[in-house]
Amino acid sequence: MALLSFLGAIQQVTGSCYLIESRDGAKVLLDCGMRQGRREEEEGNRSAFAFDPQSLDAVVISHAHIDHTGLLPKLVSAGYRGPIFATEASCELMELMLLDAAFIQEKDAEWENKWRARLGKPPIAPLYTIADAEQTLKQCRPVAYTAVQEVATGVQVTFHDAGHILGSAIVELEIQDHHLTRRLVFSGDLGNTCSPLMHNPSNLNRADVLLLESTYGDRDHRCGEETLDELADILQQAHRDGGNVLIPSFAVGRTQDLIFYLGRFYQEGRLPQQAVFLDSPMAIRANAIYSRFQHQFNSEDRALLDAKNVKRIEDWLPILRCTPSPEDSMAINRIKSGAIIIAGSGMCTGGRIAHHFKHNLWRSECHVVFPGFQARGTPGRAIVDGADTVKMLHQRIAVKAKIHTLGGFSAHAGQSQLLDWASHFEHRPELYLVHGELEKMQVLQQALHERLNWIANIPEPGEQIAL
Ligand code: ZN
Repeated sequence: MALLSFLGAIQQVTGSCYLIESRDGAKVLLDCGMRQGRREEEEGNRSAFAFDPQSLDAVVISHAHIDHTGLLPKLVSAGYRGPIFATEASCELMELMLLDAAFIQEKDAEWENKWRARLGKPPIAPLYTIADAEQTLKQCRPVAYTAVQEVATGVQVTFHDAGHILGSAIVELEIQDHHLTRRLVFSGDLGNTCSPLMHNPSNLNRADVLLLESTYGDRDHRCGEETLDELADILQQAHRDGGNVLIPSFAVGRTQDLIFYLGRFYQEGRLPQQAVFLDSPMAIRANAIYSRFQHQFNSEDRALLDAKNVKRIEDWLPILRCTPSPEDSMAINRIKSGAIIIAGSGMCTGGRIAHHFKHNLWRSECHVVFPGFQARGTPGRAIVDGADTVKMLHQRIAVKAKIHTLGGFSAHAGQSQLLDWASHFEHRPELYLVHGELEKMQVLQQALHERLNWIANIPEPGEQIAL
């Protein structure tokens, strides 16, 4: 019997990683994600892999987010030279994200080594380097959605659209082991049916074992239109107040959703601001990739874009101004009203948004819109929780701007969608909940039992099961 090991994103949401070993000797790694969050959590990224990287036959990636791909360069630096299978769009997004992650790793180590030298401590090596990331990208093998790909002897993989971000996939693995065929389906991150541009997650109906994400296993999201009206109201209010609107946003996925929505407001004459600045080099590059893959958008939104002959996402929102260079970014500081500024990082832990906070957060006529989850311990969370001041760029800044949180922009399926998606499987596969905090998994486990009479397992980190 083949074995499945639960190595990462077990009872938590980051560090996605699973190992499949067949008795015939095939060894496939499913996702190779980075752990993110608290310091202790991130320290875990430095521990050795629970397997010998050189013994793997293949790596299969569900989507490009760093918590699913961020340790690939470390795997390569530890000697893995085999193929890395992912969808075409994921391969392109990984180039953007892994090079950026490697750059940050090198900079962090450089900074840390400065103070270590002053303390007489030996230097540390970065988790991985840009050279490791470049080597990783050479090993990527793009595979189209629904194409059947043999990734190792007796192991076939098919990607199905997960509707979470561009290129995101539900991964179906067919494992032949001593004349026995077993089908494993990994949901990956399932998209929110309310989010724009992406399709709804594909429904699958056959599996022997199912791994189901449970990020929002405990609740449903408010749906799109309501959230959009809320955003439109905030923009009107900011216009009346005469200030700027700041939106801290993740570069891939969330930012493109926002541009699509703001473009809709613009087309409908509901956008009172004169300029929208996209102040994130990474988001600007992600836009180019999204634009190239417009044919993969859902047909309804694609029709809207086609009607305006939109070839690049930017054309949908004619008042969008991209500011890749630091000089252009700094020039935004002179604008005191009438601007919407979208910048990273999404949880305000650094990046250009910090500079815009310095110029706007202390002004009561300005507004800040948080379109996504703010993790505990981040400046974004402190602001959302009502802090009077926050420390940013080595100084304290008063929080006088009006603060808004929009919950409806989540790129993850809510509880009802998870149940609905799972209910399409015939003959109830063995079910394991992954990629979620324990309390949320327990609520989902309960709901699966009550509504579908289905017993779900919550694996322990490192647990191994026979497939
Ligand atoms: Zn994701």
